[in-house]
Amino acid sequence: MKLNAAVAEAINRQINSEMQASYVYLAMAAYFDANELSGFSNWFRAHSVEETGHAMKLYDYLVKRGARVDLQGIEAPDTNFSSPLAAVDKAVSMEAGVTQQIHELFELAHETKEYGTQPIMHWFLDEQNSEEDLFRGLQDQVAAAGDSRWHLLDLDRQLATRAGS
Ligand code: MG
Repeated sequence: MKLNAAVAEAINRQINSEMQASYVYLAMAAYFDANELSGFSNWFRAHSVEETGHAMKLYDYLVKRGARVDLQGIEAPDTNFSSPLAAVDKAVSMEAGVTQQIHELFELAHETKEYGTQPIMHWFLDEQNSEEDLFRGLQDQVAAAGDSRWHLLDLDRQLATRAGS
């Protein structure tokens, strides 16, 4: 069955959002590298790759359904943050925004009776629960470190060995 045109368009927009998120996380990695926090950078780099993976999952779904992949431009991300916590706060709010987008996509798939699209939307809903939980956990740790460079460096050492998910 042909993929509903409005759903195909919304999935294309979501591909763009996931690539945008990938680019934002790469900018955060660059910020942490500039501040000699290579463990944080490692974590955000891994997350950038993960977001590209999300985009590709949607890309492959469109291809599988015989729909056209339509790539749009990506905005330049902020590369300056006032503190590590400001960067992580932004990541938390961005993930909450992505969850909202997935909710809207899920609702559209429901309204248009795009039953075949619902399993992939379930996957993304579940993934967003994990992402939000993960980023809130990091936010708590960075907030607890406060202005202490010593505690940030300790957290940085822990993040150096974590894959970002
Ligand atoms: Mg994502």
